[in-house]
Amino acid sequence: SEVYLNGSWLKTEEAKISVFDRGFMHGDGIYEVTPFYNGMAFLLEDHLERLNYCLEQIGLNFDTSEIKNLVYEALERAGLSNSDAAVYMQISRGMAPRTHFIPNDIQPTFLMYAFPATLEGFENKSWKVLLSKDLRWHRCDIKTTSWLANTMANSKSHELGLNETILYRDQVITEGSHSSIFFIKGNSIYTHPEGPAILLGITRKFVIGLCRELGIEIREKPVLLSEIGNIDEIFCTGTTTQIMQVNEMIFEGKSVFKNCRKSETLKKLQSAFKEKTLKL
Ligand code: PLP
Repeated sequence: SEVYLNGSWLKTEEAKISVFDRGFMHGDGIYEVTPFYNGMAFLLEDHLERLNYCLEQIGLNFDTSEIKNLVYEALERAGLSNSDAAVYMQISRGMAPRTHFIPNDIQPTFLMYAFPATLEGFENKSWKVLLSKDLRWHRCDIKTTSWLANTMANSKSHELGLNETILYRDQVITEGSHSSIFFIKGNSIYTHPEGPAILLGITRKFVIGLCRELGIEIREKPVLLSEIGNIDEIFCTGTTTQIMQVNEMIFEGKSVFKNCRKSETLKKLQSAFKEKTLKL
């Protein structure tokens, strides 16, 4: 298969970057993953807006205006123009002699490729998750390629045969290692407010909008560790995660949340989400 690297489409095995690329050496870069339902972009503008936000936050100058057309070429070259797929893109600072400061006037490294994604049937799946301390930095709103803390967190649940690691910081449940989290209690849905403690999930934002459209009460208010016992239902959201019900949560070796039924509220949200992605 092919990848787009710095202006050229290359066979994967021929695409090479310098060992001095700051993305490789320092994790100095940002990325995005954007979904395509049957070849049709879903929330592409929002993903590109977040990409630009992240570029701005890390002080990286890169013109993203070509990306909107390139994503379709990526799908085509991967033979995914009529499939469920996603496009990965990352921009790293580029190659420069190793320094602690960020050098000026270096050429960013841009990588993009499409890959197949399973976007059908999410409403029939569920996750078992682990609750674990959030050891990431203080700018989780930046979608950085410095992913060590996320992958270390995710590995903890993976090793236990679970699907995701949910993080807490100072007694507050923030988000998953690669997903946002929502809690249903009575007639209300809660999710962590926007800010540097979480990634501003595109699916999170879309689901908040769906709740408003459907007249479901949604509150951007964090849930504390101590409140987990009072929660009725949990779900996670993400670009390829979509809206995933959580049926068990493990914390310090014990099951602290268990639920096998699905409320009308969650059913409504999932089917509204599905409908929107079918009508692209
Ligand atoms: N939170 C984190 C830490 C993530 O890595 C992701 C996705 O990769 C999400 C949340 C979900 O964000 P989105 O809905 O934009 O995919």
